[in-house]
Amino acid sequence: MYAQVIVEYPVKTLDKTFTYSIPSILKNVLLVGMKVKVPFGTKEIEGFVLEITDICEADYEIREIIEIIDKELILNEELLHIADFLKEETLCTKIKALQSMLPSSLKAGNKKRKDYAHYEAYIRLNKEVDIESYIRQNRRYEKQIEIIELLENEERISKKDINNSSLKTLLSRGIVVEEKEQVYRLQNKEDQIKDKVLTEEQQNAFLKIKESLNEYKTFLLFGVTGSGKTEVYIKIIKEVIASGKRALVMVPEISLTTQIAQRFAASFGSDVAILHSSLSVGEKYDEYIKIIRKEVHVVVGTRSSVFAPLENLGIIIIDEEDSPSYKQENTPKYHAKDVAMYRAKYNHIPLVLATATPTLEAKARADKGVFELIKMEKRVGASTLPEIHIVDMEKEMKQKNMIFSRLLIEKIKEKLEKKEQVILLLNRRGFSTFITCSNCGFVYKCPSCDITMTFHKTSNNVMCHYCGYTIKKSDLCPKCHEDALNYYGLGTEKLESELQKIFNEARIIRMDQDVTQKKGAHERIIKAFKNLEYDILVGTQMVSKGLDFPKVSLVGVINADASLNIPDFRSNETTFSLLSQVAGRAGRSDIKGEVIIQTFNPDNYIIQCVKNNDYNSFYRKEMDFRRKLRYPPYYYLVGIKVIGKSYEVALKEAQKVKKYLDMHLNRETICLGPTTAAVLKYKEEYRFQIIIKYRFDESLKSVLKEIASFYVTNKDCYIDIDFNPNRI
Ligand code: ADP
Ligand code: ZN
Repeated sequence: MYAQVIVEYPVKTLDKTFTYSIPSILKNVLLVGMKVKVPFGTKEIEGFVLEITDICEADYEIREIIEIIDKELILNEELLHIADFLKEETLCTKIKALQSMLPSSLKAGNKKRKDYAHYEAYIRLNKEVDIESYIRQNRRYEKQIEIIELLENEERISKKDINNSSLKTLLSRGIVVEEKEQVYRLQNKEDQIKDKVLTEEQQNAFLKIKESLNEYKTFLLFGVTGSGKTEVYIKIIKEVIASGKRALVMVPEISLTTQIAQRFAASFGSDVAILHSSLSVGEKYDEYIKIIRKEVHVVVGTRSSVFAPLENLGIIIIDEEDSPSYKQENTPKYHAKDVAMYRAKYNHIPLVLATATPTLEAKARADKGVFELIKMEKRVGASTLPEIHIVDMEKEMKQKNMIFSRLLIEKIKEKLEKKEQVILLLNRRGFSTFITCSNCGFVYKCPSCDITMTFHKTSNNVMCHYCGYTIKKSDLCPKCHEDALNYYGLGTEKLESELQKIFNEARIIRMDQDVTQKKGAHERIIKAFKNLEYDILVGTQMVSKGLDFPKVSLVGVINADASLNIPDFRSNETTFSLLSQVAGRAGRSDIKGEVIIQTFNPDNYIIQCVKNNDYNSFYRKEMDFRRKLRYPPYYYLVGIKVIGKSYEVALKEAQKVKKYLDMHLNRETICLGPTTAAVLKYKEEYRFQIIIKYRFDESLKSVLKEIASFYVTNKDCYIDIDFNPNRI
């Protein structure tokens, strides 16, 4: 018997399987999908078994599989199919696809491998010795006797509760024995709560999905903020579990996982596994193992949880389907929604895409009847959608109100007096967004990217938000050594400190990437704010989605134009979604919510649509724009980057690629470029971009494969292909 093994090296030239013979001790043990160690050249490396065959067609010397690694891990048939799908959809290598589906602890070739399981030690009396006589002979060692008596009453005790020298003696004499047991690091401690009685809209949504539990169908659950989508998920998942199946719930951000996970834990107890990037390696391992062992019926997680090895899957729910975080920005550049759709088809189950602000793609498909639209238009209970005020910042500037408008100050004051809470959104972290010298014109710029660096006051660093390059800020200008550095631009750090100057009594907390580096920081901030330990929450887009704080009655958007001015075809959509979502954090319970949006473009139609909570007008206008300019959902996009250390070489190769595309693509397909990428220089490399817009093009994939393989051996340049990019 032979095994076809794909090895850990993610290079195109090795994107195939190698034949190994199966040693007799593994003959009845080795299965397709297992991870194995194999000899490869002079090394021992790892790979996955993709096939087991009786005959050998290889024309090279066949060597033997050495051993199985991580015996519990077996990539099932579905996951192997998903890997093929990823490879085909993103043009990555198969091994890259397989590896991206696994937590780091279980990847092939993990150099830090160890036993990731976490054990707890317990002690118990040794039943094989004569305890009575031991007690008789050792009466004077009171501490030892105490332990023995404890264990006589209590079968076994956690060792860490009694770790002293008397216990050591008892252990060494064999009176007490120790045993280890695997325990999961994450334990659910949520109090169980009773499910809510669904409102009519919720019940209606639930019933519609329930009808299709045994078929492939995609629903667009279009429910306004606060319409109670989470309760619908819970009810439908209970139904799924009752039929013996399992559920996957995806959420966009770590900050959101916390709240939803808590809500799920309160309903499903320890039947839930959580997967997101701020878990430790060990925690992730544990959660993954729970799924492999079929110990949970529900998985809640961020993007890569779409690969959770849940067997007998019964439903997939994608919360906030419009979040860009579902697209992976590194190879393989997959979209979790596509993978989810693939899995839903594979398993003949429904996929639910839920949001208050659907992507144009999803809404358009719903309009065409490809997806089934379910609407929830009312907030639950007494709560209503907030009132939205638009403030023209040009007028405020004339009054020297640079950051806060008068209305915002007044409203914050009012809410603080009423002991209600406030959320302020500024989608930019750091203190000042650039520093320049008024004497010589020096600007802090990243040496490896085309980007001005942002000042972070707490750490006194300047940082490139693109590549992360960080240096200490000097007091004098680093170039002319004059004391002439000036600070411009506003980030959340400065916003917080300016706010504190005005409201010195207020308790302010900030949530952005800088303060959430530490593990568990999200949870702590969200919990503290929910427990009313703070009055104002200041943050980046992290505070905009999904969070449910009943006491928040005011949301302020400091600079609504920031995302509007990004030169990207999706910027209108992103802005509409961001503003509507953050507005949706206000007035979620019985207190009335208000929203203040500060902008230099008060008449902009996006801002107006947000104000009127008018998704439909936004949708119509935006669709019109997309159709005219041939953007999604009317056209599909592919972004191709040609990247190299030399500007000239990269540009020349990009022109060659363009020429090749022009010759080989369909005539209706549009091919634009090459132009410099939005950020031309990134990490010392120059990037040129070609954009393809197409509707139907059977030859596209093969042409792109051709180009990609042509550059595999090029030393000066490489190609990056991104299907349906978030941004171009
Ligand atoms: P969405 O995700 O649609 O914005 P949530 O699921 O967060 O809304 O629900 C909003 C609030 O309404 C939550 O505090 C939730 O507990 C509450 N809620 C939801 N459904 C009900 C219901 N049927 N009865 C009472 N309260 C509900
Ligand atoms: Zn940089």
